[in-house]
Amino acid sequence: MEKERREKPEFHTPVYEMALKQFDIASEKLGLDPNVASRLRSPKRALIVSVPIKMDDGNVKVFEGYRVQHSMVLGPAKGGTRYHEDVNLGEVSALAMWMSWKSAVIGLPLGGAKGGIRCNPKEMSRGELQRLTRRYTTEIFPLIGPDRDIPGPDVGTSEQTMAWLMDTYSMQVGYSVPGIATGKPVNIGGSLGRNEATGRGVVYVTMEAAKRININLNGAKVVVQGFGNVGYVAAKILYDMGCKIIAVSNSKGGIYNKSGLDINRLYEFSKEKQNLSDSKLGDKITNKELLELECDILIPAALSAQIDGDNAKRVKCKILAEGANGPTTPEADQILKDKGVFLIPDILANSGGVTVSYFEWVQDLQNFFWKEKEINEKLKDIIVSAFNNMMFLTEKEKVDHRTAALMMGIKKIADAMLIRGLYP
Ligand code: NAD
Repeated sequence: MEKERREKPEFHTPVYEMALKQFDIASEKLGLDPNVASRLRSPKRALIVSVPIKMDDGNVKVFEGYRVQHSMVLGPAKGGTRYHEDVNLGEVSALAMWMSWKSAVIGLPLGGAKGGIRCNPKEMSRGELQRLTRRYTTEIFPLIGPDRDIPGPDVGTSEQTMAWLMDTYSMQVGYSVPGIATGKPVNIGGSLGRNEATGRGVVYVTMEAAKRININLNGAKVVVQGFGNVGYVAAKILYDMGCKIIAVSNSKGGIYNKSGLDINRLYEFSKEKQNLSDSKLGDKITNKELLELECDILIPAALSAQIDGDNAKRVKCKILAEGANGPTTPEADQILKDKGVFLIPDILANSGGVTVSYFEWVQDLQNFFWKEKEINEKLKDIIVSAFNNMMFLTEKEKVDHRTAALMMGIKKIADAMLIRGLYP
């Protein structure tokens, strides 16, 4: 037991092992310097914090929170904040590692980080969530800052969470620091287009993939898992473009309509009621069934490890655009590759979020704000050129899309590490 503990650090959970496996495949193909590889296989720093808050019933409850920085070689660390019951050190560490590759693959001068609190935000009141966010921000204060680590939102957090985080940090230092967080409301230094950026980026790369394999998006059948920030926005833009969104789900259940769902009505319904299956806009469907529907485009936009060695055999999409982080396991990758599915890997597909977060941070530091049109154009330019670079490397190195994207990101960081040298 003691030996195993020494060999396997505490963050080596199944999700972390999955991130490592992807890294090992890409670094082997790159012929990466083993000294560089061994550093990049672990986070740079990981902080675990206890977050005690007074609940509405008067009792004090202590939550466990994390902030992990994987790499800061290319610049300040950047990454979201997740509030979910399954949050743990391994998951946050894997997400932080993916953030490093993501920022590097699209060429942002940022490192990778992630944070989170193990809690169920759906069962907490607004007051409890505000106290939780403020105390968590205070506890991770030693690690974060506009020039060192900039949190953003993720699953279970929102613009409001980022506003509280920004306010708490600002109160600690005594003046307003909009550059401490991204994904904030526009009136306190948020960026136009940030809210839609991840879903919009998923659409931009999906359009490129469709061009490559001759899929006409007008009438193309789309399935979306998760109807939150990423899933809803991607579904809405594709719906407005003429795609047929045949199935959508959230954590409570899904809805299927082979003639296409009315996304506007579904969105209105989702504001009132949680379970999409009750919307009467089609037939009920489970999350498991939804992933196996025949379609042109499948967008997992919820949690990790949704498509694995078991259900990958039954996945029947032509394009798999990974809105979520880590939705496909390495076993599933191989099966999907053999089936000829066109994969758009997470670190590229969902990079629209960090790209516009980067724009937000730059605008905050300059106190000079851009128009939405300019932001969307810049986003498209960056993400499409990263997509084309990935395709070029795929063909040149004869590797799959995920490996190509990882190779691009890892190489950028490794080159920077080697030129900076090892301290001291
Ligand atoms: P969100 O909290 O806004 O939405 C998550 C959605 O997934 C909700 O509809 C929820 O009900 C649903 N969901 C949860 N568990 C599910 C399950 N088991 N099956 C089906 N649906 C389930 O979160 P989000 O910001 O949209 O993030 C979704 C994914 O995209 C996450 O993996 C996140 O890390 C990733 N991501 C988000 C951003 C961003 O800017 N928000 C950026 C990059 C990546």
